Amino acid sequence: MKKGKWITVAVCVAAVVVIALSAFDVIKVGREYKNSSVLMNTTVSADISGTQAQSVGEEIFKRISQLENKLLSRHIELSAVGEINACAGQETVITLFSQSYEEGNVDDPVSDILNIISRCQTLRQDSGGAFNPLLGRLSDLWGFGTGNERVPSENEIKSVLNGTDEPIEINGRKVKIPTNTVLDLGAVGKGIACDEAKKLLESAKVKSAVISVGGSVLLYGEDRQFEVGIRDPFSQSGTDCFATLSLSACCVSTSGSYERNFEFDGITYHHILNPKTGYPADSGLVSVTVVCEDGFLSDALSTACFVLGYEDSLPLLKKYNAEAVFVTDEKKVLVTDGLCDSLSVEKDSFTVIDGQGK
Ligand code: AMP
Ligand code: MG
Repeated sequence: MKKGKWITVAVCVAAVVVIALSAFDVIKVGREYKNSSVLMNTTVSADISGTQAQSVGEEIFKRISQLENKLLSRHIELSAVGEINACAGQETVITLFSQSYEEGNVDDPVSDILNIISRCQTLRQDSGGAFNPLLGRLSDLWGFGTGNERVPSENEIKSVLNGTDEPIEINGRKVKIPTNTVLDLGAVGKGIACDEAKKLLESAKVKSAVISVGGSVLLYGEDRQFEVGIRDPFSQSGTDCFATLSLSACCVSTSGSYERNFEFDGITYHHILNPKTGYPADSGLVSVTVVCEDGFLSDALSTACFVLGYEDSLPLLKKYNAEAVFVTDEKKVLVTDGLCDSLSVEKDSFTVIDGQGK
């Protein structure tokens, strides 16, 4: 452990909270930028240290807002995803409605979105279909996070699953999603925002940064250690952690059933759906935290692993050189080998099994 170079953040879906910031040599560096705002339907916060902290910090918020509004949001008709969804079943030439990108620094937004969709396709195949970016209609049917949640009938579920197992076709700069389906990049958007933030940080003179976008966090800065708290999935509080991970620069994403859920007839239904059944994933897990180099991957993998469950996630994580912490509904904690020495479980009610973790 390197003394005096610890940053502690709490990874909590929809509320990543910086719970302590100690000996972060801000004063020596000169400038610090701290800000938080609601974007992508969640809390985005930035804590940046370095001579260009202020300007790059402002740029990051602008870029994430642009990413949401112009590319990723399926609730905005004029976004690239909105454009693709409006033409389900037909080949769509993404025009982005001739939107101007002068204000931002997005070089080729069409190529960016095509690349994102293509990565989603690969992840979908590699996860055996557990990760599926075509579940927009299914999510809408359940109504998670809308205030109008309900348990749909079997027939309704069957009807909206129709087409979701078909491929997304990408042909040059054209995209075609299957008829009846709605593209939903909600499982990767926050990780992508972390990757965009990283690009901006790399092009600026910044020493350290922690950028959190809902359940995804970018830890940035060489020769640094960061201490990341993992939210207690059983606690009502969004800032209560059961364990901490000691990490160097990377991306961390958590998917949890405590987020966007509702109770009906004594059963809790949550927003991470099993594409095969159309019901909330029932893998015995309440949260999965994935650590890897890339925000897209950490975000996509945390969702995929939540659906797959512990055993079936291991080959997928290995393939992507990613590590993870799983929490089961019995408060058991399972950790992949690469994180055993990094994890400290602080609440006695959680049991680390098979001697994994500290
Ligand atoms: P996350 O919190 O990153 O795990 O993402 C969950 C969100 O991704 C949900 O709110 C849905 O919008 C979407 N989603 C739900 N189930 C899946 C799935 N099996 N594959 C991909 N996206 C999903
Ligand atoms: Mg995700």
